[in-house]
Amino acid sequence: MPKPVGGRTIAQRLKSGESLLDIIKSYETHNAKLASKKTEDMWFHEKLTRGNALHNLKKSGAQQGMFLVRESLNIKGSFVLSIIHNSEPQHFQINTSPHSGCFSIDNGPPFVGLDQLIAFYRGGCNGLPTSLTLSCVGYVLRPSLRQYGENTIVHQAIDEALDTATFRKILQNPKCPNLNIRNLSGRTPLHEACARGLNDLILELFKYGASIQTRDSEGSSALHLACRGNQPETCKILVKHCHAKPQDRRCGSGWVPLHEASYCGYQHCIETLLQQGAACHPRCVNGETPLDMARKRRHNKCIQVLERYQPPKPHFSAPNWLHSAVDRYKAVELLEHAGLGDGCFLVRISKRNPGQYVLTMSFDKNVFNYEIKNRENKWFYIDDGPLFTSLDYLVDYYCRFSDGLPCELSGPIPSVARNQLPAIPKPKPKPKMDERPPAPVPISHPPLPQKPTHVSNSHLPKPPTSTQHGYLPGAPNSASGLREIDPKHVVLGRELGQGEFGSVLMGVWTSPGSKSVPVALKTLHGEHINTGETEFQREAEVMMGLNHLCIVKLYGICRGETLMMVQELVAMGSALDYILDYPSEVGLADFKLWGAQIASGMNYLEEKGFVHRDLALRNILLASKQLVKISDFGLSRAVGAGSNYYKASAGGRWPVKWYAPESINYGTFSSNSDVWSYGVTLWEIFSKGDQPYGNMTGAQVIQYIEDSKRRLQQPEGCPDKVYKIMLQCWAYKDSERPTFRRLHHKFRSDPEYFNIKVPGHKE
Ligand code: AMP
Repeated sequence: MPKPVGGRTIAQRLKSGESLLDIIKSYETHNAKLASKKTEDMWFHEKLTRGNALHNLKKSGAQQGMFLVRESLNIKGSFVLSIIHNSEPQHFQINTSPHSGCFSIDNGPPFVGLDQLIAFYRGGCNGLPTSLTLSCVGYVLRPSLRQYGENTIVHQAIDEALDTATFRKILQNPKCPNLNIRNLSGRTPLHEACARGLNDLILELFKYGASIQTRDSEGSSALHLACRGNQPETCKILVKHCHAKPQDRRCGSGWVPLHEASYCGYQHCIETLLQQGAACHPRCVNGETPLDMARKRRHNKCIQVLERYQPPKPHFSAPNWLHSAVDRYKAVELLEHAGLGDGCFLVRISKRNPGQYVLTMSFDKNVFNYEIKNRENKWFYIDDGPLFTSLDYLVDYYCRFSDGLPCELSGPIPSVARNQLPAIPKPKPKPKMDERPPAPVPISHPPLPQKPTHVSNSHLPKPPTSTQHGYLPGAPNSASGLREIDPKHVVLGRELGQGEFGSVLMGVWTSPGSKSVPVALKTLHGEHINTGETEFQREAEVMMGLNHLCIVKLYGICRGETLMMVQELVAMGSALDYILDYPSEVGLADFKLWGAQIASGMNYLEEKGFVHRDLALRNILLASKQLVKISDFGLSRAVGAGSNYYKASAGGRWPVKWYAPESINYGTFSSNSDVWSYGVTLWEIFSKGDQPYGNMTGAQVIQYIEDSKRRLQQPEGCPDKVYKIMLQCWAYKDSERPTFRRLHHKFRSDPEYFNIKVPGHKE
């Protein structure tokens, strides 16, 4: 570590009466002076459209190999390299790995800094049409994107092992630098703290947003460095509290932290990692396992630990997932029967290679097959993943870590002894039209699972009205405008579905002096309390102000053992699930009705000044086949007075396939962009729950819409008139799309819709 700025430590400067802010500023000024201002290093251009990139390149001369790097407008955290080749610009996406934060182009090597990537492509074409030559001058690259950044005050604080209270004050200070900046040795403050086992400071860094994934200049994670520093307690904290993943590989060598510990001979770190669920025999790029390394270097204690290790008893035994007489097609059928839930799986015997197994799993409504290889009749493994001594252990490991699979395995499909398909528990139980309110369960008990049954819809609970139950009168009783419901008045029932932050349960709410009301309880689980509470509260605040037949009502929030939103129970649950489960039960007449009702609800929302931002069939609930309700206001925002669009400042999980071009490109949302999503929702309805744009990735969809100017195809059986509405909703220019008011009016005045129940409709 170089000398501290000003020649004295932070502790000494504070002691002599200097203010923390002044000390922070002195580091900022010092680093600004050191930053390279050489024009050849200034190829970074922040956010720039493709057109402006071309303009800048042309203005600078557009010589062969001239280049710039700009931040992608479409994909958050992603960058684009624009190069001149044969006098024409070419653009290459620089991908950012979600696991390591490393940058790469196509299948090229990963780099921890953008500067390192540029240096590589300056040194030769390496797959690009030309090597990079002159920079098109823009700005100095942000330190957090550099392989070697700068020594910040936070690095200095770690170097001094400052006391926790003072350290926290630095992190809380608005002038505190980005915590993921690497220092001149290529390490973030978290890396340095992990190598030295400064556990209290590690927890503070994590709490204030330090990324656990950022790699040091050599591609090691914080957990690798804790192992290299022989810090078993730090390893435990990182995995248990900071979500570090023991299977993350070091860029280049492919070492996981266990390799690091074995190589160095630190058996306590090995023990800790194994206790935290790490696989015992992972392989690095050259195929070596930690045991091979320990043997080579004669670390006898490590050899003992690794040889004697017994994995915990697997959660699911083979009869839960092993199928002896199932081929690829039957496997798909079984997964489809189970709803193609994320992580649903089975293991079958390969027809092509008898004696070999295949893991078949579903994710994102797609089916994936993985060969399970067998070596020396002893080791089972998938691809270049860890080795396991039995199939059970392999399955159990992938139930805990995705490690290369699209997600963790979660819902095993038991084998079928008889001809008929078994009653497979669906990963997300859904309410069916017949379900009565649950048997009351005390609030402190976990929900009781119940199996859905199916009878006629005459038992459908009628949507409660405000006068029926007396729950709507009365002012909201919290400062945020939310009604607080006493947990004592709520009983929990079975699970209806899984939401983003926790499960949605059925329940009954009985406020004193009123009848009981069946409700849906949207829970916020403990692990999401920090990350999700604001969004959760925001969703509740948006919903509290809404009162429309086609919008799910919020009765209030309830702070019991978990935070819950108490909502109107919409008896048949998700319309998407219903269409997929009962495609023959619904037809054109229902679809038109739903389309009209959604337009009506959205028209109301528009009048209230809200944009929904997540209108999709998955967020439409069915009260009955004749009444849909719009739900899931997690992304909704009020648009400011005098403005009719909302600009998103933070990215997050964006449903790109439902988004209008201006939302993807500029992050702007308006009722007009909701209209685009409405068109996609109509398309989903009329195609009976098909996935829009099939398997295309978000980037491919953008290209399809923008470059090829194409749109989703007319679903089979969809009337021309309805498809025409969809196409109008997908007008590229937002001002050319119909408004919800117009759509609503269209439905109201169309004789085809005369007998339908759409609020505002002349009956
Ligand atoms: P969400 O968090 O809104 O995505 O909800 C997850 C799942 O819970 C949905 O797909 C529905 O199956 C179910 N669900 C959510 N809200 C309700 C409700 N008000 N009434 C009935 N089911 C609901």
